[in-house]
This record gives sequence, structure tokens and C-alpha cells, in this order.
Amino acid sequence: MKRIGVFVCKCGTNIAGTVDIEAVVKAAEKMPGVAHAAEYTYMCSEIGQVMIQDAIEQEKLDRVVVAACSPRLHEPTFRKAAEAAGLNPYLVQIANIREHCSWVHKNEEEATKKAIAMTRTAVAKAGRSQELMPSEISVEHRALVIGAGIAGIQAALDIADAGYQVDLVEKSSTIGGRMAQLDKTFPTLDCSACILTPKMVDAASHPNINLITYSEVENVDGYVGNFEVTIRKKARYVDVEKCTGCGICYEKCPSKVDNEFDEGLAKRKAIYVPFPQAVPNKPVIDRPNCRWFEKEKCGVCKKICPTEAVDFEQEDEIVEQKYGAIVVATGFDVLGLEEFGEFSYGKHPDVITSLEFERLINASGPSGGKLVRPSNQEVPKNVVFIQCVGSRDKSRGKEYCSKICCMYTAKHAILIKEKYPDTQAYVFYIDVRTGGKEFEEFHRRAVENYDATYLRGIVGKVFPEGDKLLVHGVDSLSGRTVEIEADMVVLATAMTARKDAGAVSRMLGVSCDSHEFMTEAHAKLRPVETHSAGIFLAGACLGPKDIPETVAQASGAAVKAIGILSKETLLSDPCVSEVDEATCTGCLNCINLCPYKAISEKTLEEKVHGKVVRRLVAEVNEVLCQGCGACTVACRPGAMNLRGFTNDQILAEVDAVCL
Ligand code: FAD
Ligand code: SF4
Ligand code: SF4
Repeated sequence: MKRIGVFVCKCGTNIAGTVDIEAVVKAAEKMPGVAHAAEYTYMCSEIGQVMIQDAIEQEKLDRVVVAACSPRLHEPTFRKAAEAAGLNPYLVQIANIREHCSWVHKNEEEATKKAIAMTRTAVAKAGRSQELMPSEISVEHRALVIGAGIAGIQAALDIADAGYQVDLVEKSSTIGGRMAQLDKTFPTLDCSACILTPKMVDAASHPNINLITYSEVENVDGYVGNFEVTIRKKARYVDVEKCTGCGICYEKCPSKVDNEFDEGLAKRKAIYVPFPQAVPNKPVIDRPNCRWFEKEKCGVCKKICPTEAVDFEQEDEIVEQKYGAIVVATGFDVLGLEEFGEFSYGKHPDVITSLEFERLINASGPSGGKLVRPSNQEVPKNVVFIQCVGSRDKSRGKEYCSKICCMYTAKHAILIKEKYPDTQAYVFYIDVRTGGKEFEEFHRRAVENYDATYLRGIVGKVFPEGDKLLVHGVDSLSGRTVEIEADMVVLATAMTARKDAGAVSRMLGVSCDSHEFMTEAHAKLRPVETHSAGIFLAGACLGPKDIPETVAQASGAAVKAIGILSKETLLSDPCVSEVDEATCTGCLNCINLCPYKAISEKTLEEKVHGKVVRRLVAEVNEVLCQGCGACTVACRPGAMNLRGFTNDQILAEVDAVCL
């Protein structure tokens, strides 16, 4: 007969406010197998834990049930407490009578009944739990960082500084990400390039960092400590070892296309370096726009290159490497404006996005830092900024707030006035959100010291009239319609997930929210972890954020990765699936269902009536299995069992609920 101890937590009034704790304890005392039941105000406190440990020793308990908060919060606490008292930690069960009961019910009688039923199911499960032992797995002491914007660069530098090798994989031909496109940065107005480029150079010269630019991760297999990754290094058609970065090839290249780095406001060549401080500062040939690849004509770059670095025969290279941990830092895009025809974007050159504004006002931008109207190259006199274009807009855009647009619009208003005191900035806003250190002061500076005119309201239409743009809006504070004759209109477009974020997250086994931003394991307590052990997230791939928050998150993700890399071995969670080979019929339905590719087939050889018979059965890789339980549900003969959540335990819980 089992000796189960039940410990009911009041959680202050969090649970006791709705649940009659004494009634739960009394009911627990009568449950089959329960040898001891007690309550306490905060079971997770040191006193609460000692109470459990004393009871294990004195009452000779061999199973423990804690009726308290979510196991995601304190299961590790109670497991450790039980282990310290000599009990296998997997003999502890949690009944979540807080999130699943007291917090969602108001009626005490009903909530108490439910808390008793939940405790009863946990007792029934505990009676069937078995001791489990984690197994050890080795660790590859090398990290992979995907995406080399400021998030990826910071994470790579932190991991490398801790003494571990890092491969920093970047899709484009240079590292730097969006921050490289920005002019000055709020709230301090530091020049973006001045604070970013030293970090880019540090990353390139760090002995522990291996930059793999113009490359993409194609496949990820394996598990925490031992990821097996395939990376495609796209052909640059320039041998970076031979290239001296002299630039003569792109000077002479006759083929011109829109420059993505300048948001299409300028042209670049088919062989190009995206911007002067690019790292590595070696060109790449944009194959679809190169005359050689198009028609086998031209070849000027190859002829002129003094070091014979141009190589039209170069091919993609596949690199396979093992990693202990992965940091994903793939960043963000900005919303396309196809649905927002009323602003005349794409129809009139003087209607631009905020990112285009960053390029126009940037000294290394297409106009050398002179803010000019794309239509006539004149300095604008009136500039209208429209915030929340596609943000907080469920019908046409994104329902979330892009978080940084209020701040960068205030920055833009300041930058204009600093350069052109005669230019007036008008800002249409829904609310101004300035949650951040010195953010409100910064916004007030834009209004009070730089004379920006803020108008609370929305813009209905922007349309060209003569060489001007007429902006029709509503000032919701005065209730009047407003018409402004503008020379330039700047749209603060929503920050969105990268277009390939869904595909990248599926490849990594990381979940995404409905907007395809990657999701953390717990928004409050595990903000850079994912549900795939060993894979961490940093920066704007998680959602809109500014540079300080991105950098802090990147360092957080790096620390988590270092936590893995610094170990020789890791303990794997024993709550994984196992196959009962005798019952397995070999249908192998589970193989396709497993999201972690943890199940494979195995051939068994058995003797039946003296003859050797071969049959297929499923086999679980215990390290890959994440214990989601999908296979156990799909297995018709019940051959698949999740340790810690066996079919037997689940059925006992169902029986206990029905009592
Ligand atoms: P990104 O900068 O987007 O970098 C991600 C990198 O990952 C890119 O290099 C990308 O090419 C690469 N990548 C993507 N997918 C893959 C893949 N599959 N494989 C390999 N590589 C991949 N913040 C401030 O604090 N102050 C400001 O003044 C400010 N002004 C801003 C103005 C505008 C108009 C905008 C739009 C943003 C502004 N920001 C500002 C926000 C700032 O740009 C972001 O906080 C920051 O760039 C986020 O960095 P990141 O590394 O997460 O993402
Ligand atoms: Fe430009 Fe292609 Fe001609 Fe080279 S071969 S110069 S990249 S167009
Ligand atoms: Fe795959 Fe089953 Fe493990 Fe889930 S529980 S990860 S489906 S093997």
C-alpha cells in the first residue's frame, strides 16, 4: 500500500480566497492511499518545503501530492524538496488548484468541490507513479547564432567572450541588420553606425567567432547539446580570400538595380557591397541582375579585378556542423502598404516610410544626409508624420502596437528641426506611448524644444495637389477636421515578423504566435527560452522592440546558451515516451505525428514456432523526445507510453474525476 502525503497551499489568499482549504485537507485525508494531509500559507516557502520534508521522513511517505499553483512555476521546487528528503523527485505530483481553479471561479462551494476533485485525481496518479532517472548526454561546445543584426552580434560576442566557439550565420552579404540602416537612435541620439560598427568589427575579428555571411540554415536535426545543422553558403561569385575590397568592380559594373539597403531610394550595381562599413567588406554578385549570368555578356568585373577574385564558376557550398546550443535572432520586417491606398504610398514619391526617412536623413544615405523630397530634391518645409500605419489595426494591418514608432517619430521630428530650423513637423497619433527610460522626456523635448505639432487623430486621405500633398485628417481633441499642405509624408509602418519566420521556426521546432513572431517558453519567467531545449530567442524575431531591449535580450539568450555549453554532460528529462514492443503492431502512425522527429522504425527478429520472423516496431530516441505525448494518443494498441504520464495514470485520473 502506498503512503501518499497531500500538501494543500493557500497561496496567501490567491487560493484560500475562493477555496475552503480545510475542506480540501479533510477530503484528502479520506482518499485511498493518503497517509498524511496538511495545509500551509505558502507551500513554496522554505517553511513549506521543510514541512514536506519532515512529513516524508516522519510519516514514511513514498509519494507526494502538492495542491498549489501551476507545475510550470513550482514543480521543480517541490521535486527538489522531496529529493532532499530522499524521495525520487518524479514521485511528486502537482494539482494546479490556483490557475485551474481558484483564479477562474468565484463561487467558493463550487471551487472547493473542484479543488477536491483535482486533488483526488493527482492522488490517483501519484499512486501509480514510478521512480524515474534522467540519463546523461554529451555536449558539443559550440554555438550557432542565426541572424546577425544587433541581437545576433551581441549574443555571438557574449558567447565568444565566455570562451566558446560561435558560428554566426547571416542571410545577407553583411552583418548589421536593420540597425545599420538607421541614422541616429532614440533616446540618446547616438549615431547608429558609430555604436554598431565597432561591434560588427569586434564580431569579425573575434578569434572565437566564425562569420558565415550570405548563408542560410537549411536543416536542423538532433537535440540540445548535439544539434546537427546543415548550412548553405550561397555562391558570392567573389573569392573573399583573394578580394582586397578595392571596389573597382562595382565602380565599373554597368548593371544598375534598386538598392535594398537604401530602401529603393538609390541604385546599386549588380556586383556590390551593401554599404561602406559592411562586414565583410567584400562584394557579392546579385546573379539575377548580372549581365554575365543573364546573357553571358559583359564580365567587366572579372576582367578588371586586379586580384582575379571574381569567379563566375563558384557554387553554393554545404556546411554540416554540430552545435550544443542555438540562438535565433532573425529580426523583423516592416509591413507592406498594399492595403493602405489612402496614403498614396507608391503613387507619389514624397510619401515615404519611416525606414526610408532613416535612409534619407542619414549621412551615408542616397542624398548624403540632406533631407530632400524625392520628387524634386528640395528640402521640405512641412513634413507630416502618420503613426500607427498598420499597427493597432485588426482589419487591415496588425492588431498589436509596434511599440517603437512613437519614439522614432519623435526622433525624426527632432532630427528635422536640428538640421532645418525652418521646417515644421506635424505628427498624427492615436496615443503617444513612451514606456521606457527617458522616453517621456525625449517625447516632451520634441514637442517643447523642437516645436513638433502633435495632432491626436487619424488621417483619412493623402492626395497630391500641384507639387504638394494634401493631408486630410481629424483632430479628435478639438473635433475639427484638419487639412495640411505637406511637402513630405512619412508613414510609421508596423513592425512585422520576417516573411520566412514561419518556415524558420518550423525547421527549428519553435512555436510562433498568430503574427509569426516566435514565442518564448514563458512570457514572464522564460522570456528567451523556447519549448525546444537548447534553442533560445533574441531581439525583434520575438516581437517589436527597440535596441536596448534587443541587446539585453541577446545577452540573456547568450547566458542561457553558455549555461549549456559550459557543461560536459546534460541530464535529459526522463518523462519521455517508451514503446512496449510486445504490443506495438508496427503501424508506425506515430512516426509522422511526432513533431520532434523522435520516432523511427526498428526491425525485431523473433522466433515463432521455431522460425525466425521479422517485424517492424517503433523506437523512440529518448533525447529527441520532448514528452509532448502526441504519439501516445495516436497509438491504437496503447503500446506507446509517456513516462510520468502513463496510460494507466491518465485512466486512473479519469476514474478519479468521475467519482
Ligand atoms: P534585425 O535588425 O532585423 O536583424 C536581423 C538579422 O537577421 C538581419 O541581418 C537579417 O538579414 C538576418 N536574418 C533574417 N532571417 C535570417 C535567416 N533565416 N537566416 C540568417 N539570417 C537571417 N531602435 C532604437 O532603439 N532606437 C531607434 O532610434 C530606432 N529607430 C528605428 C527606426 C525605424 C524606422 C525602425 C523600423 C526601427 C527602429 N529601431 C530603433 C528598432 C531597431 O531597428 C530594432 O530594435 C533592431 O534592429 C532589432 O535588431 P534585431 O537584431 O533583432 O533584428
Ligand atoms: Fe556587373 Fe555582372 Fe558585368 Fe560583373 S559581370 S560587371 S557583376 S553585370
Ligand atoms: Fe515525439 Fe512522442 Fe516524444 Fe512527443 S512524446 S516528442 S510525439 S516521441
